[in-house]
Amino acid sequence: MTLARYRAKRKFAKTPEPRGRIRPQSKRLIFVVHKHAARHLHYDLRLEMGGVLKSWAVPKEPPMDPAHKRLAVHVEDHPYEYRTFEGRIPAGQYGAGTVKIWDRGTYRPLSGSIRGGELVFELRGKKLKGGFALVQMKGKNWLLIKKRDAFAKKT
Ligand code: MN
Repeated sequence: MTLARYRAKRKFAKTPEPRGRIRPQSKRLIFVVHKHAARHLHYDLRLEMGGVLKSWAVPKEPPMDPAHKRLAVHVEDHPYEYRTFEGRIPAGQYGAGTVKIWDRGTYRPLSGSIRGGELVFELRGKKLKGGFALVQMKGKNWLLIKKRDAFAKKT
């Protein structure tokens, strides 16, 4: 786990984002989805893993419908401190635009691993609930898929 890529992209004198640090993994793992109105609006899904937030940028709203598979681009690890971050990243800085928490809660890993190219997990948020999978296609490109369960719905 390293925050080197996260830190290299940012000037902490200019962005309100936390510099952060690597910490021990919590007992109750958390997730957060940031709605990020950058040049292109997207949703950043972040899962706590190994003391950092593993992150995927999803160009469309994360799905509750198993039929709507979403591209999810694997991006740099973010620090745990980012879980509560909301604010405006100034023009000219990396990710310039507003960041708001769209959903948050706890999650439970069910199977798989990033290295193995497939993660199955259960989210307990306000909007996102139940089983999900992240499946690697090629390189940084993954798919975020809602599992068929009692929380799934047609949208
Ligand atoms: Mn983003």
